[in-house]
Amino acid sequence: MRTPVIAGNWKLFKTIAEATAMVNELKPLVAGTVGVEIVVAPVFTALSRVAEAMAGSNIRLAAQDCYWEEEGAFTGEVAPKLLVDAGCSHVIIGHSERRQYFGETDETVNKKAKAAIAAGLSAIVCVGETLDERESGKTFAVIEAQLKGSVADFSANMLAQAIIAYEPVWAIGTGKTASEAQAQEVHAFIRSLVAKLFGQASAEAIRILYGGSVKPDNIKGLMSQPDIDGALVGGASLKADSFAAIINFQSN
Ligand code: PEP
Repeated sequence: MRTPVIAGNWKLFKTIAEATAMVNELKPLVAGTVGVEIVVAPVFTALSRVAEAMAGSNIRLAAQDCYWEEEGAFTGEVAPKLLVDAGCSHVIIGHSERRQYFGETDETVNKKAKAAIAAGLSAIVCVGETLDERESGKTFAVIEAQLKGSVADFSANMLAQAIIAYEPVWAIGTGKTASEAQAQEVHAFIRSLVAKLFGQASAEAIRILYGGSVKPDNIKGLMSQPDIDGALVGGASLKADSFAAIINFQSN
């Protein structure tokens, strides 16, 4: 059985005070939640304070990006071991906004994911097609290329520390969710590709999250699909009540 993961990507929102207040509000709402890996990803500057606020709770901390070098003359970058130092257990890598606006490529995603895993972090590796790519029938080819590039040279052990997030770019922040069937189709494709690349055991174990306008009213349907193992949530993770409702999808 795969433990579902519900991860909140707070993007470029929330001051330290706002992020810690949100965690303090969220904690009692999810204190009784079992069998779900709960993750929040605040901005870098809030990480260590949010780590303090969530200490002793069932909420885990992610960063939204990292660099692949451990240290050196790399102004502005943050190394995976510094994320561990700040209290992170997870890191999001290759989010479509980073691919779209900051020149992230499958090659840099691969380097970052390897470095993150070597530092002991769980790497949440994002893939997803644009609307153009979907409409021109290229979805599977795009996902295959992104996934193969992102996990190139991984061993099965390294893959075991990765989580894949399928986030169709056209569904992120647009209010347009992929239908359960559209999401399931791609998730099943990703799992079959993992089976081809790493074997059946790895394919059965890997968590594949859906991301793209996940809300309290669509999470249950998405989670009922056999290959959807959780969600990466943007907008709806910014408020404690809506994020808790998504996290507690099993009891709603
Ligand atoms: C995201 O940021 O990964 C995301 C899926 O955003 P939203 O839920 O707002 O579409």
